[in-house]
Amino acid sequence: MSNATSGGPGRITGNGAVVARAPAKVNVHLRVGPLRTDGFHELQTVYLAVSLFDTVTARPGEGLSLNVRGEGSAAGRGPASVPSDRRNLVWQAAELLARHAGISADAHLEVDKSIPAAAGLAGGSADAAATLVALDALWGTRATRGDLAGLAAQLGSDVPFSLLGGVALGTGRGERLSPVLARRRWDWVLGIAGEGLSTPTVYAQLDSLRAEGRVESVAAGHTGDAAEPVIAALRSGPASALAATLGNDLQAPALRLRPELRRALKAAGEAGARAALVSGSGPTVAALAEDEDAAVKLAATLAGVGVFRTVRAVHGPVPGARLVG
Ligand code: C5P
Repeated sequence: MSNATSGGPGRITGNGAVVARAPAKVNVHLRVGPLRTDGFHELQTVYLAVSLFDTVTARPGEGLSLNVRGEGSAAGRGPASVPSDRRNLVWQAAELLARHAGISADAHLEVDKSIPAAAGLAGGSADAAATLVALDALWGTRATRGDLAGLAAQLGSDVPFSLLGGVALGTGRGERLSPVLARRRWDWVLGIAGEGLSTPTVYAQLDSLRAEGRVESVAAGHTGDAAEPVIAALRSGPASALAATLGNDLQAPALRLRPELRRALKAAGEAGARAALVSGSGPTVAALAEDEDAAVKLAATLAGVGVFRTVRAVHGPVPGARLVG
């Protein structure tokens, strides 16, 4: 038996539930280096956490059970692709935390998804990060934020950022983070396509494009200082400065796999976006707006052009995985 009822500090509701939420991310800068011997690419990225959240509810249970609702679930919107068994990163996060704490993994977990799956928005990573925070409280493991960050890095390259939130420079395979101060709010519109894209497939496509000489290669240790102008622009703007510095090496392979995304990027520009780029491994298009009003108008226009399944106006930075309620 676990110590599932010992609980964390004061966040357990009357029915014993603990609720945590974690945000989606956009990579405003993503420079991909060579493939490492461990199967990951060296990279340098600037993450921005945005106001689209998944929620994880953890309750006492016998063994682990998982229920997924919303985006990507069997009964939800979008193509069903999110498993509700041990293939789900949420399940793996629960087992990892229980092992770390030396207890058995006893909990019922419910994931409410607003972040679409396989969209380049770190939805699975957000779920894993929220699970670590919720179960730490439910089980009273008293893990430090550093402990949780270490476990997060074992679960996936983006999970440490989902835990941290805000703005951060990511190096290594994306899991080594340095927080960045942003003094202003940034408004974006996310254009979400009907079909997801597999992250490993997009990285493999980039390797092919580089092998064919169609896309510039980046030598080991040369992912470079290109993040500096992006970080400077993110700190204080204006939007035109950030627009001029946005860049994503995974955009070319995503466009090769999904040529129709060119039309989506063009549509965002024509609808008044300051700039638009593919988010992470795609296929979501992130369109930068001048301010909140402009984002609402941009979202309405993009919803009408018929290239996206869903369009969402969001802003960032927002905090990483946190208990709610
Ligand atoms: O870390 P994560 O599980 O999100 O990575 C999924 C896949 O994306 C990896 O198995 C790898 O194929 C690719 N990837 C990569 N280089 C990175 C991050 C991810 O090649 N830095």
